[in-house]
Amino acid sequence: MTESTLPPGLHADTLAVREAVERSPWGEHSEALYLTSSFVQPDCATAARRFANEEPGYTYSRTANPTVTSFERRLAAMEGTECAVATSTGMSAILLMALTMLKAGDHVVASQSMFGSTIRLLGGEMARFGIETTFVAQTDGAAWQAAIRPNTRLLFAETPTNPLTDLCDIAALAALAHAHGALLAVDNSFASPVLQRPAQLGADLVVYSGTKLLDGQGRVMAGAVCGSTALVDKVMGAFMRSAGLNLAPFNAWVVLKGLETLSLRVKAQSAAALELARWLEAHPKVARVYYPGLPSHAQHELAMRQQGGLGGSVIAFDVVGEGAEQLRANAFHVADSTRVCSITANLGDVKTTITHPASTSHGRLTEAQRQAAGIGQGLIRISVGLEHLDDLKTDLSRGLDTLA
Ligand SMILES: *Cc1c(COP(=O)(O)O)cnc(C)c1O
Repeated sequence: MTESTLPPGLHADTLAVREAVERSPWGEHSEALYLTSSFVQPDCATAARRFANEEPGYTYSRTANPTVTSFERRLAAMEGTECAVATSTGMSAILLMALTMLKAGDHVVASQSMFGSTIRLLGGEMARFGIETTFVAQTDGAAWQAAIRPNTRLLFAETPTNPLTDLCDIAALAALAHAHGALLAVDNSFASPVLQRPAQLGADLVVYSGTKLLDGQGRVMAGAVCGSTALVDKVMGAFMRSAGLNLAPFNAWVVLKGLETLSLRVKAQSAAALELARWLEAHPKVARVYYPGLPSHAQHELAMRQQGGLGGSVIAFDVVGEGAEQLRANAFHVADSTRVCSITANLGDVKTTITHPASTSHGRLTEAQRQAAGIGQGLIRISVGLEHLDDLKTDLSRGLDTLA
């Protein structure tokens, strides 16, 4: 009963609220939640055809579920790809990609600034299956090129990165990958299709943690991979039916509704983040601000071109201080003095979150690895939400203005 009357050529904002409404015979306006593990068949002959994939029709929710299908179709429409496959978490989306696009003997080139679990999955777990990964400096195009080998099958990047908001040039990486017969995958969790649509810049696969901006209200975990029918539907979809990394219908329904407000949220949060970043940059107790929307960002020009003029919702900044111990104490003081912001590692939420990366998300790195990554003890990361900006400034002032 999919609503198939939408005219072609609609804008992403329209698709975000209108695409892929799997309407039941009751004609409900809001998307129904099909909370069912299996589907009743009209007769045995129909069941046989559906199980043999000779006729469309739902059979079992590990194979397909209407609510999950709606989320997949809507996300693909917003991303501008032929299709998408939803997974239980962002990490299971990356696992799905690794298990379907790679085999023993293959080589991967990935940014060393990627999400920590991504680095452990590729560099650690996948190594046991004979898949080797070389990690390179995010912003160094020559390093990406130098790392490529004859057996390189995949380039994998994340832009902007957590927490320092380093970018990479998606179109340039796509050209590099394709010149060497490799695929480019981009983890777009931090940007969302509102800031950038990597497939339109040449990426073959776009990976999401739906847990972040797509949900946007910190409720459920979800993931997805977007791309061509050949890669995503034929290869990954078929694998999913055997592997069961599926997104639960309830979680799919939550992120499906999250997509409806994604554009408004990301634009509002980006605007607030830009103003807060400017304010932080002018604060005497702040040593340095990392935000792609600021002209002081090393890749500001690329960010504005690649991200449609928006900087995103994540800001990082260094507090003033001398030596690791004092820097850490100062950063803790600023975060602990807030009474509105949430001290939590999640991001992309409508509630502003504040974290100290060196002791949380990047706490498992050695001090030398942290130094190399530029993540000092004085660094604080903020994911800006929808609170009034004056309240956020007051909240951060509590700690900043009382630093020794
Ligand atoms: C959170 C995150 C992931 C992992 O997603 P989960 O939903 O937590 O499994 C992957 N990549 C990026 C960039 C993330 O921020």
